[in-house]
Amino acid sequence: MNIYIMADIEGISGIYCRDQVVTDGRYYTEGRELMTKEINICARACKEAGADKVFVHDCHGVSGNVIWSGLSDDIDYVFSGLGLKQRFAEVIRETDGVILLGYHAMAGTPGAVLEHTMSSASYQNIWLNGKKCGEIGIDSAILGDMGIPVIMVSGDDKTCREAEKFIPGVVTAEVKRGSACMGALLLPPKKAERVLREKTAEAISKIAEILPVQCEKPVRFTLEYTERHETPNPLAKPYMEIIDGRTFSVTGRTTEEAWYRCL
Ligand SMILES: [Zn+2]
Repeated sequence: MNIYIMADIEGISGIYCRDQVVTDGRYYTEGRELMTKEINICARACKEAGADKVFVHDCHGVSGNVIWSGLSDDIDYVFSGLGLKQRFAEVIRETDGVILLGYHAMAGTPGAVLEHTMSSASYQNIWLNGKKCGEIGIDSAILGDMGIPVIMVSGDDKTCREAEKFIPGVVTAEVKRGSACMGALLLPPKKAERVLREKTAEAISKIAEILPVQCEKPVRFTLEYTERHETPNPLAKPYMEIIDGRTFSVTGRTTEEAWYRCL
């Protein structure tokens, strides 16, 4: 059994403000340390629960967030870098279950820590087959098309509730309670660690019961930009449907194809 940890940073325990998650932020070094530590905790718990291999994907921003020298030997491969032509690195094909670690709620979720969907600067809202969704919805649907279940999601309470809505039976690890976009009630490190360890073990014990997310085909994405001038040129995307001056829709045979037609 192999597990793929898709690691973002906004939902890591101890993270509550923008300065911890952007490369020029005053507390970015602390953010990197917290993310690296949490990845190690999760990877250890995966191995203790019987995982043969653990793959880690550093997916926040332009990647390269983890502190390389701090990564544990419990991890078998780390994907770090840019230029993937798909959402997940190729080892996803050898994966039995995915953990979305340190995730965040979709754009606009009230009281959710650092909520956004893919790009806080560019994207106002995204709908998948008419249902408003965030990164949890998009990633679980892309993986679902490959027959791979998302078995655990960690983050604040809003992230966990969103995951439970999109992924029936998913195990959630709530490491903080969101109070505002940049404010949270945080569990202290040892308590957050215990939650992560216990929930990771539970998720792996339930791996056979948690089904891959299925979404109806063709898949339709609707993307609303924050600004009016950003909708694509119809010559570049002749297949798109313009909804209004900031919004367009595309369809694809799979979730991943539809998603990349948006970009
Ligand atoms: Zn992120």
